[in-house]
Amino acid sequence: MRIVQKYGGTSVGTIEKIKAIAEHLIKVRKEGNEVVVVVSAMGKMTDELIKKANEITNRPDRRELDMLMSTGEQQTIALLSMALKNMGHEAVSLTGSQAGIQTTGTHTKSKIKSINNERMEKHLADGKIVIVAGFQGMNEAGDITTLGRGGSDTSAVALAGALGCQCEIYTDVDGIYTCDPRVHKGAKKIDKISYEEMMEMSNLGAGVMEVRAVELGKKFGVPIYVGRSLGEKNGTYILEKEQIMEEKLITGLSINENVLMVNLQNLYNKPQKIANIFSALGKQDVNVDMISQSQSVEDMVDISFTCPATEEDLLDKAVEIIATQNPALKISKNQDLIKVSVVGVGMISHSGVAGKLFEIFGEKNIKFYQVTTSEISISFTMDKDRKAAAVEAISEAFNI
Ligand code: ASP
Ligand code: MG
Repeated sequence: MRIVQKYGGTSVGTIEKIKAIAEHLIKVRKEGNEVVVVVSAMGKMTDELIKKANEITNRPDRRELDMLMSTGEQQTIALLSMALKNMGHEAVSLTGSQAGIQTTGTHTKSKIKSINNERMEKHLADGKIVIVAGFQGMNEAGDITTLGRGGSDTSAVALAGALGCQCEIYTDVDGIYTCDPRVHKGAKKIDKISYEEMMEMSNLGAGVMEVRAVELGKKFGVPIYVGRSLGEKNGTYILEKEQIMEEKLITGLSINENVLMVNLQNLYNKPQKIANIFSALGKQDVNVDMISQSQSVEDMVDISFTCPATEEDLLDKAVEIIATQNPALKISKNQDLIKVSVVGVGMISHSGVAGKLFEIFGEKNIKFYQVTTSEISISFTMDKDRKAAAVEAISEAFNI
C-alpha cells in the first residue's frame, strides 16, 4: 500500500521525536508500504521565525517572509532524512518545489496549482522513503511561497491526491473533538466525520485540521485519518458523509478567535458603489466573511463585515481605496469578538436548531452581532468575554 503520513510541529519538536518517527517509518516501510512523509517545522519554529521578522518590521514584506518561514520545514526534512539514513534506510528529503509542488497566488497564503509527482515516483520505485517539506511550493515566478499557517496539512492531502493514496495526519491531539477540549472539558472524540462537517469546523476555527486540506480531501476522495500515536488507530476518520451511518443533529461546536469586525458607515446606497467596495477587498485578497447591511439616513447605508484579524494590513490597503470613492466614509473596527458556530449534517433534514440557539442566548443574556447560516452550520459573532457562557449553554443543550 502507498501512504502519505504527515507529522506536525509538536510531533517533530525534538531530535528524540524525529528519531522515533524515523524508526516508526522504517517499520511501516518494511511492512511493504510505499511511504511519503510530509513534515512541519519543529515545535514553534515558524512562530520564532515570524518573531525575528517582526523585530525588523511589524509588516514584513510577504515574499521575504515566505523565504524565511520556508526554512523551518527544510530543517525538519533534512534531519529526518539523516536519521533514516543513519538507521540504514534509504531516504531522500525534498523541498516543496523539488517534490513538484507548483503554487499560485498571494505570498504567505498561496494555493497549490499542480503537482508533478515524477520525481517522487522515481524515488519510491527505488525503495526510498520520501520526505517532503510541508507548507511550501514554488510559484510561476520561481519564488518560494507558503500556503498559510497550518498549511502542511494541505501539502500532505494534496500529495496523497496526486499519488492516489490515503493520508494520515499525526498531530498533538488524538483526533477531532466535538469542541476544543481546552475550552470545554466535556468535549468528546468523534470517530468519523464527513468532509463537509470537518470543512465547516476547520473554517470556523476548530484548529486541528486546515480547511483547505479537507477541501482537497473531498475533491480528490482522499480518506484522511487524524490522530496522535504512532501506529494505533484510535483517532478520527474524515470521509464521505455516505460512509457515516449514525448521524447526530449537531456534530460539533467551534470557536474562531481570529475575527475582526469592520463597520463602514456613510456609504452611497448604489449597487455599483457597494460592488466596488467588495471588489476592492477582493483585490487585496481579504477573506470577507459575515456581511450585514443597515439602512441609515437618505441615500446612505452602513455595512459591516468580518475578516480574519491577521489580514488587517490587507484590509487597510483596501480601505484606502474605498475611502477615495466614498468621501463621507467613517470606519470602525472591533477585535474583541469571537465567532461561535454549531455544525452538523443532521441540520439538513431537521429544523429548529436556530430557534433553539436564539432561545438559549436569550435565557443566558448572550448578546450577538451577526448570524450566518449554511446548510449544515449556524454561526454567531459575539463578545469574547461571553465565550465560556455560550460554549457551556450550547454543549448542554445539544449534548456535545
Ligand atoms: N510550520 C507552519 C506553521 O506553523 C505550517 C504547518 O505547521 O502546517 O504554520
Ligand atoms: Mg497544524
